[in-house]
Amino acid sequence: MPATKLCFHTVKDLRKALLNREISAVELVDASYKRIEEVEDNVQAFISLTKDLAYKTAKEVDERIKINADIPPLAGIPIAVKDVICTKGYTTTGGSKILENFVPPYNATVAKKLEENMIPIIGKANLDEFAMGSSNENSAFSIAKNPWNFKMVPGGSSGGSAVAVSSGETVISLGTDTGGSIRLPASFCGVVGMKPTYGRVSRFGLMAYASSLDQIGPFGRCVEDVALTLQAISGYDNMDSTSINIPVPDYSATLHHDIKGLRIGVISEMLGEGTNPEVKEAILNSIKIYENLGAKIEEISIPHNQYAIATYYIIAMAEASANLARYDGVKYGHRSKDAKNIMDMYMNSRAEGFGDEVKRRIMLGTYTLSSGYYDAYYKKAQQVRALIKKDFDKAWEKVDLLISPTCPTTAFEIGSKISDPLSMYLMDIGTITANLAGIPGISLPCGFDSANLPIGIQLTGPVLSEEIMLRAAYNFEQSTDFHKANPAI
Ligand code: GLN
Repeated sequence: MPATKLCFHTVKDLRKALLNREISAVELVDASYKRIEEVEDNVQAFISLTKDLAYKTAKEVDERIKINADIPPLAGIPIAVKDVICTKGYTTTGGSKILENFVPPYNATVAKKLEENMIPIIGKANLDEFAMGSSNENSAFSIAKNPWNFKMVPGGSSGGSAVAVSSGETVISLGTDTGGSIRLPASFCGVVGMKPTYGRVSRFGLMAYASSLDQIGPFGRCVEDVALTLQAISGYDNMDSTSINIPVPDYSATLHHDIKGLRIGVISEMLGEGTNPEVKEAILNSIKIYENLGAKIEEISIPHNQYAIATYYIIAMAEASANLARYDGVKYGHRSKDAKNIMDMYMNSRAEGFGDEVKRRIMLGTYTLSSGYYDAYYKKAQQVRALIKKDFDKAWEKVDLLISPTCPTTAFEIGSKISDPLSMYLMDIGTITANLAGIPGISLPCGFDSANLPIGIQLTGPVLSEEIMLRAAYNFEQSTDFHKANPAI
């Protein structure tokens, strides 16, 4: 494989090469930046590159290897970090003009963990503004492109993180998932992406979108790489009051165990009318693969699924409207130059700094929280959220995991949905219920449509079922070749 394509290798192979001194960590970082030079004009996965940081970490790794000291499992492996996660001393924009020049004075807990694990951060990945979107078209800087077809969206909001891995710019990446923003782009770009249980990974230093739904998680080209990355970023953090204080299992230790007798439910609502026939066929084939692996398949209904989009968008926008109140031009971010008084300054700064989708959400969110409408919208949505949670709790009495398409379609054309927010919101039907219920979910490559665009299958499971979920994903991956295909760029 040519030197610029080193990032297409798995973590396991790269680690072996590092420890055998066939390559150095600095060479690996070089390869990542050379690949970025090669493809970045076409794919636009990054908002900024963090070269000093990446080379500093890589040099430390090489020093340790030189003296035969132990290195952590992901030491030296190039990673991209979604630009909504604060990196001390390196611009973090949230994909927004309002934070175009914001340099955080502190690290997010996950960024600190990457540092402790000696994982070189290559750059800050492109995203929809403040993680609001399903296509990456809401980025204030540029639209990331799908490496399988540049005319298509990569999915959002963590589009850049998925593209960086899919196009071999980095080996792994971090994204965030509030309603599907890791799983959807993973599905569209043909990589693996996981949203952990709410609270498993600290949100400290993540710019808040909808705090009761947001979760950071990993992307990789294979399940093992995702398991290793999840391991590195998981764990209790007293800086996040929703952090779960339960030990993190060794995710990769049991990946290769079989899944005989595992009970898998198929969400019946997700294979109905709205699902593209090619996607449906790929999911049905995947179910057969699971049967051959010894899993017991059963149909399961999540009856309140039909209210999920409405429920999610009310709750997410309400929380967003409150979280984004902090961007007022006073403490940080863009401040309007031509304001005559303080009210003008607030209003102009926000009007100039925020993009259209963010403004739409602040307005709708403020409306649903306002007195007189709170009971009709926000409170109702919270009640339906409880019902969706109950649907899942009932499902777990019968099955260990659930299967559904990650998204009812494959990647769509850039520009085709941007002026129709409702059709864009519908892309999240397969993913948002997991966020509403706080449960983990993973998307895996499971086929291609007739236009050679990747199809993703999603597994969801009860709270803290990551270990069994990763094992089920690994078993599927080992019996298929979809994850081995790379885009021809
Ligand atoms: N598409 C969803 C939204 O726009 C999900 C975004 C996300 O998960 N960050 O809210």
